[in-house]
Amino acid sequence: MQQKLSDRINNLATSQTLAMAAKTRELREEGKDIIGLSLGEPDFNTPDFIKEAAIQAINDNYSSYSPVDGYVELKDAIATKFKRDNGLNYTRSQIVVSTGAKQSLANIAMVMLNPGDEVLLPCPYWVSYADLIKLSDGTPVELPTSVESNFKITPEQLEAAITPKTRMIWYSSPCNPSGMVYSKEELRALADVLVKYPNIIVMSDEIYEHINFVGAHASMAQFDDMYDRVITVNGVSKAFAMTGWRIGYIGAPEWIAKACTKIQGQITSGANCIAQRATITALEAPVSKIQFMVDTFKERRTLIISLMNEIEGFKTPEPEGAFYVFPDISYFFGKTIKGHLIKDATDFSLFLLEEALVATVTGDAFGNPDCIRISYAASEAQIEEALKRIKLAVSEA
Ligand code: PMP
Ligand code: GLU
Repeated sequence: MQQKLSDRINNLATSQTLAMAAKTRELREEGKDIIGLSLGEPDFNTPDFIKEAAIQAINDNYSSYSPVDGYVELKDAIATKFKRDNGLNYTRSQIVVSTGAKQSLANIAMVMLNPGDEVLLPCPYWVSYADLIKLSDGTPVELPTSVESNFKITPEQLEAAITPKTRMIWYSSPCNPSGMVYSKEELRALADVLVKYPNIIVMSDEIYEHINFVGAHASMAQFDDMYDRVITVNGVSKAFAMTGWRIGYIGAPEWIAKACTKIQGQITSGANCIAQRATITALEAPVSKIQFMVDTFKERRTLIISLMNEIEGFKTPEPEGAFYVFPDISYFFGKTIKGHLIKDATDFSLFLLEEALVATVTGDAFGNPDCIRISYAASEAQIEEALKRIKLAVSEA
């Protein structure tokens, strides 16, 4: 038998965040003491009040299929959350609950894109965006940024990238991987360009909204002249330390929400019912219940930035949110360190894995080949030890 797979899967890249996590597990099984700073996953346990809600849901016999787009009570909790935290009005028919924000994104790509449609991706962008777009026959169009531009695009850059084929723009703020946060004024300036092109739909990924160290979170959908063409994506993985529970959701124009429900009805039948019930409790809780995690991430950010600034060759802008640093490490390109020729960020990331036993992710995975991503969703002791090892490993450069 010929082992022949579809072109679709053959053309798809493996998720490099998950690949690095798998490699870390493998090396640990071999007995290597790897510090894993590759995966964007809070190192906290899910808060007890959420776990108790899940146990209650099991005991209450929540074990059947839920409505495809989510329980009505959950959609109401999401609508209340959107209003409370973001000032956004979404009704039940505009909300779709999915198996993680990743599935929300996959739904969006599948329902919005036709072959050749262009999707603007300000760089660096989250790892799965480009491949989800390609999987739906769309064409990702990268908008480069750098440390110097604080990893943000300008309105002029946005306008210059728009063509008659532009169908969407996808971005996250706070940004994974750069940690940058677009202010309300910056979003308004981008909106001023987008209002001139009414066929462009915006995917605004706000999954890190609470992990913001610089001020109020701003949503693109808050602008009345944009609301009808913004899909707001969010989820509980990051804010509530619920990555494995797999619950994400969107607030969107009704015609898009309906389409996402239709596709989900063929692909998953809807998200896990117990996790959905627990998410009602998570979203109804006051934001103050998760503030301790945000405060801890902020302390760790200060720590990691101060340690990184001691290492020559790392240019690291201070992130404003999320839990990643995204240093430009192009200083090392062309150098040979401990016998490793560093040609690019991928070589550098592999060098750190082999010589410092620290797992990071190459910036290539996020459309920025001069950088690497380091997650500081790890304990202070791990961060200190990791940076000590990195400093030592590169000291011969
Ligand atoms: N968007 C961004 C920016 C992310 O970092 C992640 C990673 N969790 C996701 C979406 C997907 O999140 P999940 O599927 O866990 O809800
Ligand atoms: N979002 C996390 C990250 O960027 C988890 C990995 C993933 O979902 O791909 O590392």
